[in-house]
Amino acid sequence: MSPAGMAGGPGPVGPVLPAHLAAQPPAVAARSPRPVPGFDADAAVRVPKRVFQETFDILRRCGGNCRECAVLWVVSWDSPDTVTRVVHPTHRARAAEVEIDPAWLTGFFVELAQRGEGIRAQVHSHPGRAFHSATDDAWPAIHTPGFLSLVVPRFAQGPAGLIHTYLAQITSGGGWRSLPPADYLEVRP
Ligand SMILES: [Zn+2]
Repeated sequence: MSPAGMAGGPGPVGPVLPAHLAAQPPAVAARSPRPVPGFDADAAVRVPKRVFQETFDILRRCGGNCRECAVLWVVSWDSPDTVTRVVHPTHRARAAEVEIDPAWLTGFFVELAQRGEGIRAQVHSHPGRAFHSATDDAWPAIHTPGFLSLVVPRFAQGPAGLIHTYLAQITSGGGWRSLPPADYLEVRP
């Protein structure tokens, strides 16, 4: 993932405001999602098999075995550890880079707020082995602790499964930790 993912973050620091206006959120915040309750960092996330398969189908079809691709796993806030759908964002991609369109992401946050949903995880493909690059660390789609980032190797050309994937999670301190994918993602019928 690359810098456009920043659209989901707190936004740039604005100009210094008079005290009576300083309590107002900057304009960028008005377009961002409402404050979210956060995710249970220790919870395993349930991923329906159809969502998992669709994820691989998208990564393969869009990436064409020569470009990265990214998708988002969406949950309802009523059940934040069960993925309900996969969304293929508007993005640019090259062999070793994928960048979600910031304007698309802004509109998607509005849709999510209206539907009572959140982005539980992002999934993106790498050309070779799966790991979290410095760019992946720096620009997640959102910055909520507990948010998961799954990386799939070899443009997702291998079997649709967790083997050789890499899973990272945003910690309460805002950093990342790596997790055993099979312990934190339950792929179920
Ligand atoms: Zn794609």
